[in-house]
Amino acid sequence: MRELVILGTASQVPTRTRNHNGYFLRWEREGILFDPGEGTQRQMTLAGVAASRITRICLTHVHGDHCFGLPGVLSRMVLDGVASPVHLHYPASGEDVVRALVSLATPGLDLQLHPHGEAGPIAPGIDVQPLRHRIEAYGYRVTEPDGRTFLPERLAALGIAGPDVGRLQREGSLGDVRLEDVSVHRPGRRFAFVMDTAVCDGAVALAGGADLLVMESTFSDDDAALADQYLHLTAGQAGALAGDGGAGTLVLTHFSSRYDDVAVLADQARAAAGSALVIAASDLDRIAFPPRRASAA
Ligand SMILES: [Zn+2]
Repeated sequence: MRELVILGTASQVPTRTRNHNGYFLRWEREGILFDPGEGTQRQMTLAGVAASRITRICLTHVHGDHCFGLPGVLSRMVLDGVASPVHLHYPASGEDVVRALVSLATPGLDLQLHPHGEAGPIAPGIDVQPLRHRIEAYGYRVTEPDGRTFLPERLAALGIAGPDVGRLQREGSLGDVRLEDVSVHRPGRRFAFVMDTAVCDGAVALAGGADLLVMESTFSDDDAALADQYLHLTAGQAGALAGDGGAGTLVLTHFSSRYDDVAVLADQARAAAGSALVIAASDLDRIAFPPRRASAA
């Protein structure tokens, strides 16, 4: 089961309809909470996400709209009796802020701190890329393990069916038939999470080939000067990153409170996004992980 639950979609200032940031990614057995801003605990209740489902928390950076919900969520996990380890990932320069926030939480959680300070893998199937913001920030990518897709006509030609298919998959061969004779490589699908940043190499890398790409879209193209000044993306820049990277679905979020209607931002992104499907996120949206794309098979 792979699904993205949108907990909040506001940037610096929450509004009547938008909570501060927060995103929960169900990724098979993992439950990854990204950037819990204020109010995330209650948004989880409204979205039907149990605190016990969180196995990992990833912070892009330590500005308040991305982490002030942390003590509440951690305390709730203690209250709910979470006994398994929970991993917390964050930029190394945010150590003092993270430790302060964690110190406010009810003690008792097996919380394991994992600061990172460079691009690369941080956990099985998860890697980070640096972003360009006013403080150190990293985006995340979660990649499904590569697999193989069977070619039914080859299996049929060799008379392989039923339990033999599973045996061939597990053992890599069946008699003198090798797995690679009857299947092709299937790259794992990718989720990418790009928050506060100007256009930069890291954002380009994360957008590349993402099947589901969550990207900040703080400003309208009409306010590009503000985006430049505060190192944020415009909707059009987010769209172009998705389009140029061949992303499948782009989810826009982290909207400035100055926009009552973000449909305009979605249109601006769409105009630059090529074949990517563009969705402007609302709080409590649930987005199923897109089906495997034909080009990725
Ligand atoms: Zn922010």
